[in-house]
Amino acid sequence: MKLIETEKLDVSLDGMTILNDVSFWIGKGEVVGLVGPNGAGKSTVLKALIGALLPDKGTIRIFGKPVREVSRRTLARKLGYLPQENEVHWPLTVERVVAFGRIPYLMPWEGLKGADQKIIRDAMRATDTFHLRHRRIDHLAGGEKALVMIARLLAGEPEIILADEPVQGLDPAHSIQVMEFLAGIAENGRSVLVVLHDLALASRFCSRVLLLHEGKIAASGSPEEVFSSENLRSSYHIEAKYGNGDDFYVLPWKRI
Ligand code: ADP
Ligand code: MG
Repeated sequence: MKLIETEKLDVSLDGMTILNDVSFWIGKGEVVGLVGPNGAGKSTVLKALIGALLPDKGTIRIFGKPVREVSRRTLARKLGYLPQENEVHWPLTVERVVAFGRIPYLMPWEGLKGADQKIIRDAMRATDTFHLRHRRIDHLAGGEKALVMIARLLAGEPEIILADEPVQGLDPAHSIQVMEFLAGIAENGRSVLVVLHDLALASRFCSRVLLLHEGKIAASGSPEEVFSSENLRSSYHIEAKYGNGDDFYVLPWKRI
């Protein structure tokens, strides 16, 4: 089942073509990696999917329905979006930040109900952030903050997660932890589209990879297919080292 499908998507900003003929789909239970060099248009793809940008051409379908026929509230419930810039500078407690995940379920005048509180607590427990619940978000370390942001996503009970560089700035252990969470979410029948720069992480955790280059899908398929030496040379201008033990892996090595 295709949870998201785009067909021949064109997006331009300030009169410049940013996405050109972008077609892809994401199936239920998949972790799909969206990779590509800086400025390729990865964040623009995610913004178009959540409806923050209007494409010039092409269609986006969510659960088989054109996105413009889906209400904003339904979109907010179904799609969990983690923006690339997720710095929180307000002096809010972790618990408050995670509670924001429930907003799509509340009427403007409504407070959190017992069921919402339970979902918020469960989201914090699932991400190992429950012990941080009374701490200020702006006082946390990067790895802790990243997990809180995932807890906020989980609290929204989305069926599709769109995460824009969720491991940026994290050490290897925290990066793996975040990817394990995302993979676990997909195992429970939800889908994840994750923007990554770490090709080794992408090859390990993604069932499929989309390589975006200058606004176009340059390659898509298994990590092994997409991270071929030709593709890495033409899109990233790098040489890589490859491993083929039990699992395929790719290690960027040299700039060319
Ligand atoms: P990525 O996430 O792959 O690094 P982005 O999607 O953020 O790339 O940006 C793709 C291109 O679109 C870049 O060249 C960027 O400068 C341009 N761009 C992004 N946002 C805007 C905007 N609001 N107005 C004009 N150009 C933009
Ligand atoms: Mg980006």
